[in-house]
Amino acid sequence: MLDTEFFLRWMRATATAVDREADRLTALDSPIGDADHGSNLQRGFLAVQDALAAEAPETPGAVLVLAGSRLISTVGGASGPLYGTLLRRTGKALGGAPEVSDADFAHALRTGVDAVATLGGAAPGDKTMLDALVPAVEALTQGGTFAAARAAADTGAQATIPMLARKGRASYLGERSIGHQDPGATSSALLIAALGIAQGGGAGE
Ligand code: ADP
Ligand code: MG
Repeated sequence: MLDTEFFLRWMRATATAVDREADRLTALDSPIGDADHGSNLQRGFLAVQDALAAEAPETPGAVLVLAGSRLISTVGGASGPLYGTLLRRTGKALGGAPEVSDADFAHALRTGVDAVATLGGAAPGDKTMLDALVPAVEALTQGGTFAAARAAADTGAQATIPMLARKGRASYLGERSIGHQDPGATSSALLIAALGIAQGGGAGE
């Protein structure tokens, strides 16, 4: 079972990974965007850490709803509302239970990923965060481990390199978006990898 502490570790491990990889995320957002993805998420997840420390939410769902709300209110770019919706909708789907099963979490995360697709109007293959999130959530709903989800997300992020961007800023570049890894798919792979770190009991170094 996954308890509130697990979800707090997940958010902390994500914040640590985003902080460590901020320069790389921003560098990826440079040729096909406006070079702010790393700093956007760094600011957002720092605010999430502050909010979680201040409010001490008591259930898994409340952790994710608070984290998502904070991302929406602190990240100006497209990724703030999208990641915020992902976490808020996943948290709402978890309801008020004090702990949740792996299967409950997988289905809740699918609700969150579906909400991102609805909000952004994107589908897998459009060179967005969904290219990492959708394969990861498919692995989890099929009963796969967090390690399997991480591998699926990493493969999905790398698969964005030859894609033509159809959504977001990168789509303005048309054919010139080809040949670059999508920054949002890359940060989504970090979010998924953080599940395994949280399960291991750690929160990242
Ligand atoms: P902005 O594009 O506003 O500068 P960020 O740089 O923080 O925002 O985030 C860019 C990332 O957001 C992209 O790499 C992509 O993965 C994701 N993204 C942009 N638009 C969409 C969309 N409509 N649906 C899903 N993801 C999107
Ligand atoms: Mg950007």
